[in-house]
Amino acid sequence: MDYMIAVIPGDGIGPEVTGEAVKVIEKIGGKFGHSFVFSYADAGGAAIDKTRQCLPGKTVDICRAADAVLLGAVGGPKWDSLPGEKRPEKALLGLRKELGLYANLRPAILFEELADDCPLKPEIVAGGIDILVVRELTGGIYFGERGTTMTKMGPAAYDIEQYSEGEVRRIATTAFEMAMKRNKKVTSVDKANVLESSRLWRRIAAEVAEDYPEVEFGNFYVDNAAMQLVRDPKQFDVILTSNLFGDILSDEASQVTGSIGMLPSASLAEGNFGMYEPVHGSAPDIAGMDIANPSAAILSAAMMMRYTFGLDKEAEAIEKAVASVLAEGYRTADIAEEGRETIGTAEMCRRICDAI
Ligand code: NAD
Repeated sequence: MDYMIAVIPGDGIGPEVTGEAVKVIEKIGGKFGHSFVFSYADAGGAAIDKTRQCLPGKTVDICRAADAVLLGAVGGPKWDSLPGEKRPEKALLGLRKELGLYANLRPAILFEELADDCPLKPEIVAGGIDILVVRELTGGIYFGERGTTMTKMGPAAYDIEQYSEGEVRRIATTAFEMAMKRNKKVTSVDKANVLESSRLWRRIAAEVAEDYPEVEFGNFYVDNAAMQLVRDPKQFDVILTSNLFGDILSDEASQVTGSIGMLPSASLAEGNFGMYEPVHGSAPDIAGMDIANPSAAILSAAMMMRYTFGLDKEAEAIEKAVASVLAEGYRTADIAEEGRETIGTAEMCRRICDAI
């Protein structure tokens, strides 16, 4: 059986880190006897340069023909002066919409070896952090009605937050399914003391919770959740939340780990299709220098193995290899403490492949 993967290298360090992730996937294929087939497509600045569009139709077709997409990152100073609609980053919203990617999974894991990178006090994070933020990705205020109007106080602008029961039920089910494979705890985050859309969210989340009696379920208001993430992050397993709150809380949770070069993500559609990408951007300041950390892209490939292909052993092999290379003391510059010798992008990947 062939596993079809569309690769969108993108801009800046995107081509470097996706190139390394592809090597790791090939290594997994060799070790476990799978055949991974790659097809390449452009998006972001690279696509603008070739076609004047940030998301050409051909790219969407290539993604749709694949089982999963591996994306690097898009954007950079070269395209910063373009108007909003034409910017490389617009490709990301287009991909989410065109591919129906409604669930964004952002793990925030603090590797024991990198505990020093964590900005919180050691006693708060002792024993490590392992949080999964499940963010709704195709609804809410980012996709709601928007416009401008005139008020007594002058010209005004508005964006509407709207969620249907179906949208909430779908993302809540994803969160509970994830929790069943983890530590069986879901915390739903909303602002139900103020927002009508949050009251609907809370009611549907509670209904879905009834189908998962083994999972401990609770609700937090978003302001409290933001506070608890830095006060006591270990209390969380799966955080279920909306597009807007998830955007903010997933970045907060990732900062708690302190290492942006280590953080993968997945965006899932119905039926196991998914797009996998590092959390970081295109890092134009270090592009082409062989110093970017490829781990986030490589760990995104591990998520692809698990969530799209159902290859749990293969996912674990990648994750363990990354952890063991860290345990042996190898670091790229972004995760090295002062005075420690560092290795480059390609060597980090080679060591991870050797560990597999
Ligand atoms: P960034 O994540 O690209 O970089 C922030 C800092 O982290 C930089 O100092 C960078 O060198 C460092 N960094 C990031 N990834 C690293 C890695 N793997 N290894 C080592 N160091 C790493 O964020 P930014 O600077 O705000 O954005 C740069 C460009 O990326 C912008 O055009 C932005 O719009 C775009 N962006 C794209 C995505 C995406 O494609 N999903 C996400 C965020 C930002």
